[in-house]
Amino acid sequence: MAIVKHAYDATLHNKGTVGQRGGCSWHGERACREQPTSSYETPNGMMAACPRGERQIEDLYGPPAAG
Ligand SMILES: [Zn+2]
Repeated sequence: MAIVKHAYDATLHNKGTVGQRGGCSWHGERACREQPTSSYETPNGMMAACPRGERQIEDLYGPPAAG
């Protein structure tokens, strides 16, 4: 399934989520102190990802379309 990659944007994330608070939702804000650099639309919902998370997301789901 295709994913879509956006530059990180807190407004793309639902209110009250890690991504909306400026955390890395791929690793979780307790496990990852890095700032997200991208927001991904994935089959599991909107994910904010740090650079390490970006590589993991793209390894898992394949190359994203630009959003
Ligand atoms: Zn992370």
